[in-house]
Amino acid sequence: MAPGTHALIGWWTANVVPLTRRDRLLVFLGGVLPDLDGLGLLFSDEAYLTYHHVLFHNVFACLGWTVLVALATKDRLRCVVLCVLNWHLHLACDYFGSRGPWDTQPWVLPYFYPLIGRQEGGKFVGPPWYWNPWQWPLDSWPNLLVTLGGFAGWLYIAVRLNRTWFEFVSLRMDAEFCRVLQKWFGTRATATWSDREGKLIRKSYLIVTIAALFACVIAAAHSS
Ligand SMILES: [Zn+2]
Repeated sequence: MAPGTHALIGWWTANVVPLTRRDRLLVFLGGVLPDLDGLGLLFSDEAYLTYHHVLFHNVFACLGWTVLVALATKDRLRCVVLCVLNWHLHLACDYFGSRGPWDTQPWVLPYFYPLIGRQEGGKFVGPPWYWNPWQWPLDSWPNLLVTLGGFAGWLYIAVRLNRTWFEFVSLRMDAEFCRVLQKWFGTRATATWSDREGKLIRKSYLIVTIAALFACVIAAAHSS
């Protein structure tokens, strides 16, 4: 999926439970860092096509970031769990929603790279389940739906919890921005989710995440 969609999902993950601003940043980055391997585009199309969805779209890159998060945070258990989930949600979204046009091959998602899978003669070689047979094009309606849902969540966090990801740039600017949004929506922010709201958010987040990961396993089992 598009980096913006991953950022929206990553931001939601970072706000499912109360965290400090620094921990939110660590968890949020877990949802967007996999796309760093797309920076090859700045050098050449070939570098982009060779390394995007390869270098960081795998479980070992996830483990690497998770170790750094574990070292940097005090709220270790929650941050580590959310970071792993966030990274895997990114992989799941790409496994399903990152194809080019319908008549092209699905884009590879080499989960165990570099242990399993390699470049060979300008092509990636790996087990069949690295290519999701049900993968849809990047500009398909399911991606749009996920993006709209993510944006609705982003707005909800802004008006309820008084923050957006602009807090990583300037707290003052972020507060001012949220104040304008709250005025538009006629709402008042609170410091954290209410008990009922928090429970519902945590439960629905877990259900969606488990469903997404389960869908990946089913799709992988149907590849040939
Ligand atoms: Zn990606």
